[in-house]
Amino acid sequence: MLAKKSVKQNYSPSTEVLELLDLFRRMVNRCIVIGLSQNVSSLKSLCLLSYRELKGYPSPSCYKLCAISRAAGILASRKKSLRRGFATKSPYAVKPLLISCYNFKIQNGHLQIPIGRKAYETIPLTKHTALVLSDKTLRVRSFTLTATTLSLCISKEVVTLECTGTVGVDRNLRNLTCGDEETVIQYDLSMAVEIANTTVSIVSSFKRNDRRIGQRLAMKYGKRRQNRALNLLHNATKSIVHRAFEEKKAVVLESIRGIRRLYRKGNWQGKSFRGRMNGWSFGKAQSQIEYKAAWIGLPVVRLSRRETFGTSSICPKYGERLQSDGRPRRALRCWKCEIWVDRDVVAAINISRCGRLRFDRSKGEAAEALIGNPTPTVIPGVDASKPTHLAKVSGTMLSSTDHH
Ligand SMILES: [Zn+2]
Repeated sequence: MLAKKSVKQNYSPSTEVLELLDLFRRMVNRCIVIGLSQNVSSLKSLCLLSYRELKGYPSPSCYKLCAISRAAGILASRKKSLRRGFATKSPYAVKPLLISCYNFKIQNGHLQIPIGRKAYETIPLTKHTALVLSDKTLRVRSFTLTATTLSLCISKEVVTLECTGTVGVDRNLRNLTCGDEETVIQYDLSMAVEIANTTVSIVSSFKRNDRRIGQRLAMKYGKRRQNRALNLLHNATKSIVHRAFEEKKAVVLESIRGIRRLYRKGNWQGKSFRGRMNGWSFGKAQSQIEYKAAWIGLPVVRLSRRETFGTSSICPKYGERLQSDGRPRRALRCWKCEIWVDRDVVAAINISRCGRLRFDRSKGEAAEALIGNPTPTVIPGVDASKPTHLAKVSGTMLSSTDHH
């Protein structure tokens, strides 16, 4: 399996590089204009239409192809937005940028890129980047330059890990819960919420009546908030993935498609609640876990919305519906087992279980090889023909054959 990720660093560009970045931006915009006027968005037809048009731009020819490809990407995402019915303006590249996968070299701790006829520019790599690239099995696929950052896309072949179990991951505003029937670990993210609240109060405390300065300050503090929250999340997801790898368990995630639709204006929620929920990047945890797992060959199972429906309110043991006592707490009561359980813990266990059913199924016909190390069926009574929702869900899952 081919795993990809990128490594990013800061650098200080020379004037030639800055000129090249701006030239690339203008070429992308030219291609976008051509694509819009001819109503094409595929790479091939855009190439045919615009390659000649780019003749006048004094850039190495390899960048022209990359500019066309970049424009095709922008046009394709515009088309997608239109199809989904979002309000869409005509796209226009504003930030100076250069992406290329051709004619670059990495040697002696430097990145060498062509900037003109027989002219090259070298950019020193930082210690961290050099360390990442010192792995001889990986390949550098492309580089991206902005006015301040250099990022390299790298890939390597990884062997997929044979898993013997699954861990479910449940994402919430204040924590990341991961585990299965045996152990459940909660990673506290309430710090991120606090950071967000502090940022909001700091920004609203600026009283100067100058919109531009206000905006700049808000941006600065927003950036800081994002960095700090991301750091928290990175630590949590790293630990989850490494733990799962050591225990040889596949990671199971629930689908978060359409989560933004839950917190919109007119949904009878308070303004601050909506702000809180929309401020939290739900997708970040998922994408971090996915790329970190892919990089070490750990399988990830992604459950659909239907499969995870009601996972936080059904007892993992007998499929009984859990009751809350009406107070806004995260604890729920199961009347059959006579215990109080945390709803996030229940969700993680149920997600892990759903994922294991899917995972076992996807191995399916190769089951003979598995007899030596059978996956433990920890929960008795799940397969009993109880007409609960959970039993129904697992029934539909067993009959479906899709797998990841
Ligand atoms: Zn129960």
